[in-house]
Amino acid sequence: MEVPVLLQNIFQYIDKNEQVYIQCLTEAVKIPSVSGIPNYREDVFRMVYWMEEKLKVLGVITEVCDIGTQVISTTENNSTKIALAPVLLGQLGNDPKKKTILVYGHLDVQPAAKEDGWDTEPFKLIQKNGKLYGRGASDDKGPCIAWLNAVEAYQKLNHEIPVNIKFIFEGMEECGSVGLEGFLKKRSDFLESVNCVCISDARWLGTKTPCLIYGLRGTCYFSIEIECASKDLHSGTFGGSVFEAMSDLVFLLDSLVDSSGKILVPDILEDVLPTTCEELKTYENIDFCVKEFKKAVGCEQLLHEDKIKILTNTWRYPSLSIHGIEGAFSDHGSKTVIPKKVIGKFSIRIVPNQDPEKIAKLVIDYLDKKWKTRKSPNNYKTSLTFSSKPWLSSVSHYNYTAAIKATEFAYNRKPDMIRIGGSIPVTLTFQEIMDKNVLVLPIGAGDDNAHSQNEKINIANLIQGTKLLAAYIFEISCVKEH
Ligand SMILES: [Zn+2]
Repeated sequence: MEVPVLLQNIFQYIDKNEQVYIQCLTEAVKIPSVSGIPNYREDVFRMVYWMEEKLKVLGVITEVCDIGTQVISTTENNSTKIALAPVLLGQLGNDPKKKTILVYGHLDVQPAAKEDGWDTEPFKLIQKNGKLYGRGASDDKGPCIAWLNAVEAYQKLNHEIPVNIKFIFEGMEECGSVGLEGFLKKRSDFLESVNCVCISDARWLGTKTPCLIYGLRGTCYFSIEIECASKDLHSGTFGGSVFEAMSDLVFLLDSLVDSSGKILVPDILEDVLPTTCEELKTYENIDFCVKEFKKAVGCEQLLHEDKIKILTNTWRYPSLSIHGIEGAFSDHGSKTVIPKKVIGKFSIRIVPNQDPEKIAKLVIDYLDKKWKTRKSPNNYKTSLTFSSKPWLSSVSHYNYTAAIKATEFAYNRKPDMIRIGGSIPVTLTFQEIMDKNVLVLPIGAGDDNAHSQNEKINIANLIQGTKLLAAYIFEISCVKEH
């Protein structure tokens, strides 16, 4: 594929500036912007201001927005309020003749400590074998910096930035984006002129093939509470006389899913979008190796041995997982206790077009019925703890066709079109507030260890990813329709 001359120049510039980009990422990783631990909140602030400075250098008009406070518990009975990390808004260009894209990234990171099993200091970027190790290198500081690099490349070569860009960088993503949705709803003025959205979080499916993500599953998380006594009981003294809560709970949990992974709740699949032949075809060429997947899972046998079945069952069909039992004895040893109260936790990953409320009703009605057949006098209640909707984007939208072409320019190959079995809540937030097409455009590779020890980004991904973003805005600007 012939790369346009303008992009060829930009790509060359990007290749030459590798060391500058690595230096920039080094600075960013050095700030331990852990949002989940209140003691680090100042560092998250510092990270937001660091990014603001970088944007200002590029001529971006910035605004650091206070989004309120958060209550955190200090001891069992005490709590205190601390400020949420601010949201950084930025606007580059305001030309009504150009399209306006919204770029989202997050500046906070997961906790990390050498003692957790890191080979090197997590907040010091280390270069080794073409990889850059450090917390946030891939999730999500590297991709945020790739955006800075892409814009800078245009400017340094005196090329006009072909689109208007609005930036939203948040600092609470790793804690569930607390405060972001409310803030965005209040600041709909900022979102008004946006034509489409690009989220550069998430990673490729594997390690070799670039991907575009067009779908995510949602979640319905449930708890089943059963109480049989006012206190824990000794099984030697009371076993044989009591309707035990734990047995009741195991009975209910066992009625949820069979050994083949089939969810036993009637009508649960009713609203699942049927697969089309065309859709199944898109799975055929996806770069995914069952053997490697098994190795990553660490098991000999999976529910499905076929690639397409594994992918469809983790991406586009619901699944039910049992997560734990609160109140149950779980330590080493053999305690002969009859727990007075147990709470079973399970969740269903839901898919288009399942609705969380409808799924919750089906599940609760089903368990209530099962409970009646148990004829237990114990206190029982199933409830929905939280839920999120699934997300499916339209891949025929120019936002995706531009990203496909940009991938071809940067990587000389077409990207795999994939979904993810998990959730990125902000995706849905943007789609619902703005009703504009949302693209999830990953920069990092599937083995980057985001959230885990030894997180890294490949230098190649940082460089090619920067080219990808530069090419993406070029392609967006080439689109005629609005
Ligand atoms: Zn992330």
